[in-house]
Amino acid sequence: MPTQPHETHTPDHYRLLGVAPRATDAQIKAAYRKLSRIYHPDAQGGSPVAENCFKQVAGAYAELADPARRLNYDRMLMLRDPIRLVDDPRAERALDVLDTVVTRLRKRQTALPSAGHGRDLRVEHPLPFAKAMLGGIVTVRAEFATTCTPCHGAGTSEPERNPVCHVCQGQGTLKTGLRRQDMRCAFCSGRGLLLLAPCKGCGGSGQVAAHQDVDVHVPMRCRDGAHLRVRGGGEAAPGGKAGDLVVVVRIQPHAFLRADGDDLVCQVPLTWSEALAGARVPVPTLGGTHWLTVPPGTPPGREFRVGGHGLPVGSSPAGPAKRGALRVQVFMDMPSELAPSQVAAVLALEAQLGVQRFARATAYRAAVDGLDTADGPSK
Ligand SMILES: [Zn+2]
Ligand SMILES: [Zn+2]
Repeated sequence: MPTQPHETHTPDHYRLLGVAPRATDAQIKAAYRKLSRIYHPDAQGGSPVAENCFKQVAGAYAELADPARRLNYDRMLMLRDPIRLVDDPRAERALDVLDTVVTRLRKRQTALPSAGHGRDLRVEHPLPFAKAMLGGIVTVRAEFATTCTPCHGAGTSEPERNPVCHVCQGQGTLKTGLRRQDMRCAFCSGRGLLLLAPCKGCGGSGQVAAHQDVDVHVPMRCRDGAHLRVRGGGEAAPGGKAGDLVVVVRIQPHAFLRADGDDLVCQVPLTWSEALAGARVPVPTLGGTHWLTVPPGTPPGREFRVGGHGLPVGSSPAGPAKRGALRVQVFMDMPSELAPSQVAAVLALEAQLGVQRFARATAYRAAVDGLDTADGPSK
């Protein structure tokens, strides 16, 4: 089967009617009568394709049947495609061909698709952070187009009802321009035959949408952008070998956790009272929640290390050998603004505690005050 050209050529009126550009009025009329009988919607069970063909043929005939309009049309065609008016032996034979091949199907339309290879499919798949770190099985939907079963890809289950295109005589292409280049026949959309009775399963395209759910093994500590290949998980090829499915992993970042080496790091905000009086705070892990005891008087920036709750390290058939640590870094969630009465309450509490409870701040102030600073704050 020759490769189809991309560009489409709309046939001129003579090609539409299957006559030579030098045809007599009687020949044009006879051709129109023959074609209008074939494509009349009533004769084709109301097929919309037939109706469109009928309209095109009738439009061409209306213009060529009027001597003045035909003269104008010929002048236009002379400019557009001069060789057409000089010599086109194929056009002379077109209607004869139509008589003999009207019900003959082209070989490629009836042949079953060759048992080839299905294409590889590439699917981007979002993966939650925990799943990407721990690994496991995810189910990925692979969508593809496959050969329509009822018509075996031919686009029709009733080949005898689809006449060969009389314009291109079943070739699917028309030679046009000074270089007689092959272009796709617009009358039959390059099929070579007119799908007056398209397959109900695929609408005539010969292909239907299909999908399959494929289980994909995600390795532990999978990287963002990793390509996971599943042999045979791609496009199915009836009678042939299915392609591969290539899953491109897109890791969804965790709201609070990030990986750092073998460890997981989580930053946890504390309120004043939690930092001052101590608290039990929930910390997310890869599987569930860990409750962390924050002792009274915890300074912001302190890091707590929870062993065994980090990333899996190494692997064996029995599972990961060990886990890194979960590092919890606490910080202080400060109110942005206090009312004057609230400021007074804070100062009162600090006064009540006394400077000796702020040993480091007091020592720092004393040390800085003793420095010989040129631009320090004035007292
Ligand atoms: Zn055609
Ligand atoms: Zn079909």
